Amino acid sequence: MSNSHSSNARIVRELVLANHILAFENVLDAYGHVSVRNPDNPATFLMSRSRSPEIVDPDDIFIHDLAGNVEGMAAKELYRERFIHAAIYEARSEVAAVIHSHADDVLPFSISKLPLQAVFHAASSIGAKPVPVWDIRKEFGDTNLLVESVDQGRSLTRSLADRSMVLMRGHGFAAAGSSLIYLLKMAAALPRNARILLDTLHAGGEVVPMSEGEVALRDQTDLSLPAGQRQWEYWCRKLGVAFEPGGF
Ligand SMILES: [Zn+2]
Repeated sequence: MSNSHSSNARIVRELVLANHILAFENVLDAYGHVSVRNPDNPATFLMSRSRSPEIVDPDDIFIHDLAGNVEGMAAKELYRERFIHAAIYEARSEVAAVIHSHADDVLPFSISKLPLQAVFHAASSIGAKPVPVWDIRKEFGDTNLLVESVDQGRSLTRSLADRSMVLMRGHGFAAAGSSLIYLLKMAAALPRNARILLDTLHAGGEVVPMSEGEVALRDQTDLSLPAGQRQWEYWCRKLGVAFEPGGF
């Protein structure tokens, strides 16, 4: 196995499955990506080369450094926006997994003053305070809106600050989790939360977001318990993959 591939088969297997789960949940389509920090070298992370998440295989997973480079690979073979992941891992040592998505449902909150907050229990990881919005134009002027450099990744990460997610104006969102399963649950819940919020606003209802206390209590859920593993088992079953207890 070359230096650009991880020898940690379990991590690679989980990351491949994470790609398929996020495609199944319509959080990722042909675009967007998910990564995990490399447990064998925390100054690197694992992510697919430039492929649609739904069809990512173990052979597609490569070790990226925090400058977004992969040994022996040309930049054109990699995701253009890999700098989102690199910059978040660089700035936040506790982050174990990162996603970038273009899910339509969150976009209204990225182009307006509408606050995106947690409004239903499964989306508590969004937080009680509105999700911050990063506008690439403020620092970089007119661009194609994509995060294509280390500097742009670091700018995005400054807006993320110590939060779990940040909206990207007219583009999508980036989210960071302390584990892959936590990130998956959060990323799957975010577009659902946005839809519920928009449906309520369209119906003319007054929104009651979750409180700081409710969010804090929900966040104490231990995902290694059967109630947490249930989600993991559900996704494995839906995707026809053997369930490994304790995974993620
Ligand atoms: Zn993007």
